[in-house]
Amino acid sequence: MPGRNFLFVPGPTNVPDRILRAMHRAMEDHRSSAFPELTTGLLRDLKKIFKTTTGQPFIFPATGTGGWEAALVNTRSPGDRVISVRLGQFSHLWIDLAQRHGLRVDILDVEWGEGAPVERIEDLLTKDKQHEIKGVLIVQNETATGVTNDVGAVRRAMDAAQHPALLYVDGVSSVGSIEWRVDLAITGSQKGLMLPAGLGIVCASPKALAAREHAKCPRVFFDFGDMIKANATGYFPYTPALPMLYGLRESLDMISEQGLDTIFARHHRLAEGVRAAVRAWGLKLCAREPRWYSDTVSAVMVPEGTSGVDVIDVAFRRYNLALGAGLGRLAGKLFRIGHLGDLNELMLLGAIAGAEMAMRDVGIKIAAGSGVAAAAEHYRSTAAPLPARASMPSPGAPQGPSAGGAATPRAAVRT
Ligand code: PLP
Repeated sequence: MPGRNFLFVPGPTNVPDRILRAMHRAMEDHRSSAFPELTTGLLRDLKKIFKTTTGQPFIFPATGTGGWEAALVNTRSPGDRVISVRLGQFSHLWIDLAQRHGLRVDILDVEWGEGAPVERIEDLLTKDKQHEIKGVLIVQNETATGVTNDVGAVRRAMDAAQHPALLYVDGVSSVGSIEWRVDLAITGSQKGLMLPAGLGIVCASPKALAAREHAKCPRVFFDFGDMIKANATGYFPYTPALPMLYGLRESLDMISEQGLDTIFARHHRLAEGVRAAVRAWGLKLCAREPRWYSDTVSAVMVPEGTSGVDVIDVAFRRYNLALGAGLGRLAGKLFRIGHLGDLNELMLLGAIAGAEMAMRDVGIKIAAGSGVAAAAEHYRSTAAPLPARASMPSPGAPQGPSAGGAATPRAAVRT
């Protein structure tokens, strides 16, 4: 099919050309004397992404799932009791991973589409006078349902209960922030960092690092201790995924150039446009309440009697648009539009148009153009003021060095 595939799954996200170019390089000796410059710069700058000065980042050649595992095996022992909220497929999978490592998980089940019940967490912790509960596991942004949890509120609940459990946050589709005194924040490379999948990144607080002393879960590949020793001299305990590291270097530079606050604001504005489209279609999001709406992914419920699988299939085969599927018990009930990473308004309008056409093709009764119009109006009405226009040569004016080169003043006369 001519033209680019429209990639709107909530990860992997679009990799900017700048990052692709940075990754395209010959292999080199990862034990050379020049290599530590790359490692130390990455570890230093990752702290800014996690908004921490005291936390320690770890870069594993893995994915978000590897990050889950690394966070748990370095800090826990089989038989330890932890609390987790099951609010979608990813929190479900993390609980499964914890259980397979022998942890006893108190599972707080909620309807998929709802956020974490902070009061229930506080209640459990308050009653746990013996401090038997060792950790609270929260998926900050449940990518399967488009629900974002208030991690700050969970932190406050733990403080109110005066409980010493560690706070583990999956920030795979958000990036958990240590500023809320998260103890273990986990992310992957293929979402907000705009890279391919291939890195599992964990940031551990000093309290989490101290927990290693008593943690008896077996660990080799994911051992923080080996990583700390090697990283201290600028190296890795095994062969690092070089292109990914160079891509990460570029990604961190791009994020720093744009600024985290600007990036968060852009994600919110883009998400609001998608939500305006969903309202205009007369459809509902899986996230039940606005306070849980995710700025990185919207899960759109399809009407009874229709199937999200059909929408996704037609969008892909007819319009070259990749939408996210309903996962686990939500299979067929929805489709997801990822709106994170390297994106702009017109890219999203293309995805909204494609979703709209595919929905109409499979018989979902929505007005043609309704979602696109609503999102476009949102983007127009919230657009930033136009930056000052660069001056341009007047039409017909002589060009090039013989016309006086850079020293010739150029009039901005194009209308
Ligand atoms: N956690 C969340 C919130 C996710 O969205 C995903 C993947 O989409 C994962 C964990 C698992 O990450 P990975 O597929 O990189 O192992």
